[in-house]
Amino acid sequence: MDFKIQGKNAIVTGSGQGIGRATAIALAQEGVNVAVCDLDLTHAGEVAKEIEALGVRAIAVQADVSQEADVKRLFAVTREQLGPVDILVNNAGISPKVPFDEIPCEQFKKVMEVNLLGTFLCCQQAYADMKEKNWGRIINLSSMAGLFGANKAGAHYSATKAGIIGLTKTLAKKMGPYQITVNCVAPGRINTALTQVLAPEVVEQIRQQIPMKRIGEPEEVAWVIAFLASQQAGYVTGACVDILGGFIA
Ligand code: NAP
Repeated sequence: MDFKIQGKNAIVTGSGQGIGRATAIALAQEGVNVAVCDLDLTHAGEVAKEIEALGVRAIAVQADVSQEADVKRLFAVTREQLGPVDILVNNAGISPKVPFDEIPCEQFKKVMEVNLLGTFLCCQQAYADMKEKNWGRIINLSSMAGLFGANKAGAHYSATKAGIIGLTKTLAKKMGPYQITVNCVAPGRINTALTQVLAPEVVEQIRQQIPMKRIGEPEEVAWVIAFLASQQAGYVTGACVDILGGFIA
């Protein structure tokens, strides 16, 4: 299927590895130019090289999405080197696995700032470009922890991922008149660095609860995101798409 987004420009945050990397590559395979944003410039540079090999343009940008100045610089550099942004994937996220009664106040704030404030700041920047073009796609990363509450992840993580669903639905209403769609995806357990910290017996326990009896792969999230970025998904907005291998709380 041709998603009809060749030549569009995307920013994918946190795309130096994991789901972000897989998403950046999936979009590039659809002919999209990609700004690979990450805290780690080496990782971002490696992904940008992989993307260029697919025949589209790519840039690597070091930025912390929780810092307004970094987000403004990320969009400024992208506009300068690729052009205005058509597709934004708010993927950067952190998930400290700390029991509720042990979460320090500073850590709670940090998780809010990276996962929720970072998403908000990037949406604000993207809105200006997309409004001008009367076309845009924003896809935010929520989680099963945002839908059902967390089991292994922290309460702060769960709160941010639920917040992302509310933000997504509100922005879908706000941006709809400009033909900008805003959706989120809610993955279950996916095989990335974020989950590789769990003990093998815990992963096995989780696997048994999933009807498909396996952990998901980053590409299985990436291609749902790529579809939501497609021309064909133009009337899907304000949605939260579950990617849970059949898991129901
Ligand atoms: P990951 O492998 O840990 O990758 C996250 C990436 O985000 C890393 O490259 C990290 O950079 C980057 N990052 C972290 N903080 C950042 C910041 N402040 N600014 C810019 N980049 C930052 O995680 P993942 O599993 O692919 O998860 C991606 C997204 O999917 C997250 O939002 C996560 O909550 C969501 N999700 C994941 C799962 C899962 O099971 N994996 C399930 C549901 C939802 P460094 O490595 O340099 O720190």
